[in-house]
Amino acid sequence: MFYIEEINNKKILKSDYLKNLKHCFTTRESVIRSADATLKSQIEQNKSEFCEYFGISTDNLICPTQTHGCNIEIAKIGQRDYQNTDAIILTNKVQAVFLNFADCTPIILYDTKENICAVVHAGWRGTVEKIAQKTIEKMIKEFNSSPSNIVAAIGPTIDECCFEIGEDVYKMLKSSINEQETPFKIKNEKIFANLKKINYIQLLDIGVEKIDLCNYCTSCSNELFFSYRKENGTTNRHSAIVKLV
Ligand SMILES: [Zn+2]
Repeated sequence: MFYIEEINNKKILKSDYLKNLKHCFTTRESVIRSADATLKSQIEQNKSEFCEYFGISTDNLICPTQTHGCNIEIAKIGQRDYQNTDAIILTNKVQAVFLNFADCTPIILYDTKENICAVVHAGWRGTVEKIAQKTIEKMIKEFNSSPSNIVAAIGPTIDECCFEIGEDVYKMLKSSINEQETPFKIKNEKIFANLKKINYIQLLDIGVEKIDLCNYCTSCSNELFFSYRKENGTTNRHSAIVKLV
């Protein structure tokens, strides 16, 4: 179950499925990523508060450059720069990693046995590419993970109520899952997709059994989260952050 907590009176969202992992999804109040210059000092303040919360130095709060691709990297101590990276695996206890979102699906994966984790950015393109599954495949190959030990939390995303897609995107998303599944809705001849559900099905398909699914739609809950569609292309982002203990 997802629940709201506060750091210095600023709301964050957490999943009780990830209780042994330091983590959170930021909200508008706890924002740490924006291209808006007027938010710069607030973001610096929030970042330093998160570093204190996670018990790390600001040099070790790292964030890759996301491109809606399918490249998956492993965080390395001392390395801050990760180009063209939409999923990152964390195996050290020194760094905290965050990725940024405004409608796309944030997914946190935690292997409770190997004590490693990952953050995944799955927009519709990443979802078509099955980026969450590919991240798990990399965790299996490189770190001996087993999907049955992996717990997943799927965070705030634009939902079926608001995420209208075209026929071409519909076909691509549909091809990424088993044909019996229908995480789509047709209303007034328009097609709407449930990105959380599609990622949920992909995670089940690879053998993840414990998946926490967040109820928030970023567009409907725009007072809490950022929505690229609702806000006509905002540069503000909410983030998913993880730190191993
Ligand atoms: Zn909605």
